[in-house]
Amino acid sequence: MSEPRPPPPVTAAARGLLRCHACDLLCQPLAGAGASNCPRCAAPLHQRIPHSIRKTWAFLLAAMILYIPANLLPIMRSSSFFSVRDDTILSGVVYLWIGGSRMLALLVFVASIVIPLFKLLALVLLTLSVQLRSTWQPRQRTRMYRLVEAIGRWSMLDIYVVALLVALVQVQSFARIEAGQGAAAFGAVVVLTLLAANSFDPRLIWDYAERQNMNNKHTETNLD
Ligand SMILES: [Zn+2]
Repeated sequence: MSEPRPPPPVTAAARGLLRCHACDLLCQPLAGAGASNCPRCAAPLHQRIPHSIRKTWAFLLAAMILYIPANLLPIMRSSSFFSVRDDTILSGVVYLWIGGSRMLALLVFVASIVIPLFKLLALVLLTLSVQLRSTWQPRQRTRMYRLVEAIGRWSMLDIYVVALLVALVQVQSFARIEAGQGAAAFGAVVVLTLLAANSFDPRLIWDYAERQNMNNKHTETNLD
């Protein structure tokens, strides 16, 4: 005897309801009224974020291009009476590691190299999977998106580390530390990745997965 199947999930979209992106109110748009607004906060209502995939690609491509100068240009310039030293993110990590600040080196490495790269690759994978209408592991992909959102706030850590170093060095000695051009590019990568994550609509993952499920059920019912 086969186990009873759970009923198919009821979605707001299937019922013709729209969730307001601004205040989360579930709204019933008027039939034939075209684009409508939320009756509570007047924000425009959309079933999915408009042009989600296109906007996400645009932000992602800009972030990927700027990722190159963010890593190749100096992020920090330290000057003393005797020397001037330019450091990229990676050379800064090596400098900190050799200088004995291993925890700080590890923190900068994770926050400025590992996390931004993971976020970019995860978003590329998610956007590509939605664009190709993949039905592969929707729950895992949703988890990945939540992780990208959750760690978003940590990628500015590097800028805090630079600010901390500047303050420490200037208090302790006559040396000067300035943020380099790489820091601006890095900041832009962080902001563009946040915008890309914001433009991506994770519900698109389920749209295709559920459509596929419905098609499979239809086929099975016909075969029964
Ligand atoms: Zn609203």
